[in-house]
Amino acid sequence: MSLQVSDRIANLSASETLAMSQKSTELKAQGIDVINLSVGEPDFNTPQHIKDAAKKAIDDNFSFYTPVPGYLSLRKAICEKLKKENNLEYKPEQIVCSGGAKQSVCNALMCIVNPGDEVIIPAPYWVSYVEMVKLSEGKSVIISAGIDQNFKITAAQLEAAITPKTKAIILCSPSNPTGSVYSKDELKALADVLEKHSNVIIIADEIYEHINYIGKHESIAQFGTLKERTAIVNGVSKAYAMTGWRLGWMAAPQWLASACNKLQGQYTSGASSIAQKAAEAAYTGDQTCVEDMRKAFERRKELVYKLASEIEGFKVSKPDGAFYLFPNCSYFLGKSYNGKTIETSADLAMFLLEEGHVACVGGAAFGAPDCIRFSYATADELLIEAFRRIKETLAKLK
Ligand code: PMP
Ligand code: GLU
Repeated sequence: MSLQVSDRIANLSASETLAMSQKSTELKAQGIDVINLSVGEPDFNTPQHIKDAAKKAIDDNFSFYTPVPGYLSLRKAICEKLKKENNLEYKPEQIVCSGGAKQSVCNALMCIVNPGDEVIIPAPYWVSYVEMVKLSEGKSVIISAGIDQNFKITAAQLEAAITPKTKAIILCSPSNPTGSVYSKDELKALADVLEKHSNVIIIADEIYEHINYIGKHESIAQFGTLKERTAIVNGVSKAYAMTGWRLGWMAAPQWLASACNKLQGQYTSGASSIAQKAAEAAYTGDQTCVEDMRKAFERRKELVYKLASEIEGFKVSKPDGAFYLFPNCSYFLGKSYNGKTIETSADLAMFLLEEGHVACVGGAAFGAPDCIRFSYATADELLIEAFRRIKETLAKLK
């Protein structure tokens, strides 16, 4: 008898963002000077007042199991944030904290999708959505939006994709991997379509809310009656430079929050006590750190946009948010170096890693095989050196 993993896991793809980052770490361990633009995480340290709150939580013995949806004080702080920043009213019972926004998206899908249900995902999409839909036994329905439409779907595309089997749509704005941000009018146009389809649930991934270069964050939950069937997903990873703390949350209609609570109660229990106390300090403390980091990302966005635009063969769209640049790289596909042909953007990413010592991620993992993703959440000097290497390395391809 052979020992095998379940079909569920056998059919699941590993996360390409994490895999490329892992490869870059391995090369670094071998003494190779790799610049890692693969994984998307702020390079800043967690702000001091948040770290102090975590240290205090340890000393104050926050060491016991936490309530499954999170401490009431944290959920109240999240409700206050939603009221103040998004003008949305939620009760603490509607908030479920988790081990990251990643878990919250997956929780939402696990709680609503039955086998065969369709989940609409605009492409380019974040790597994990399609795999999470697989885990929940749903069927992904992809709507593609190319660079010509700034990677944003239109209301007509959305309308055409909805069927009687549509259970949910996952919307991510600001977007990973494209950096596109839907304007209030664009969101309203999508909301008008969704308003007509009252069985469709909206999972609004707003993890990049605070990394926005075109103004105030707009949530789709603000329109019409959509809040009654929207799960807003957010967390502290990106806004407060807390990726390793693992704390995310969902704000949802009561029935969905209760379902999530039941799921977590059997699966993971409440999130880490220390991370929760740190997150509470993040939401209730001084917000200057958020704006300082946003400004640094904005400066780097201008820098990498200029550097990438100067590379012959890249077609670049200027990001409006998040910290990714997602150029179209089809010009390089089919070209060769040392007898090796670059067939796909994943090959191109591997070539840039091995030849240029810059780690990035091929676009196929994001549903956009013509593109390649660079995370620019790193120091300006490193970005300048990385794009110097990228330019030099790509010039070798004939
Ligand atoms: N959604 C998107 C679009 C992301 O880019 C990320 C970053 N990994 C997440 C969710 C997950 O964030 P977290 O670290 O809170 O799990
Ligand atoms: N959101 C980041 C990225 O896309 C973190 C890695 C991950 O969780 O996939 O690179």
